[in-house]
Amino acid sequence: MHEMGIAMDILRIVQESIPAEMAGSKVQRVNLKVGKLSAIVPESLRFCFNVVAANTAAEGAELAVEEVPVVARCNDCGHAWTIDEAVFVCPKCRGARIEMLSGRELDIVSIELSEEEGDHADPR
Ligand SMILES: [Zn+2]
Repeated sequence: MHEMGIAMDILRIVQESIPAEMAGSKVQRVNLKVGKLSAIVPESLRFCFNVVAANTAAEGAELAVEEVPVVARCNDCGHAWTIDEAVFVCPKCRGARIEMLSGRELDIVSIELSEEEGDHADPR
């Protein structure tokens, strides 16, 4: 389950991203972009993140995962297209010299912190 290592990386980046003056605030939501070729299962990633984030500022934070389509480009004719699965032949010229332009990434787009702590009643 390689999601566990990824969840730990995300947690580390999230913790490093909290500005000093916001120390003590809770992370509400982490917005991620995950390439479809990265082989990350969002449900597993959420589960692992919940485990590693326990007792940290990110405990209970929501992981919002946006899946990024895979974009490939043919090196023979320059045609670029979006693929849903691993098909590595150019649909235009049938060339096999394909380059992946996107789809393998895992980016943290933004992190949402709650401004205050304990002031408002939390419905949970
Ligand atoms: Zn081509």
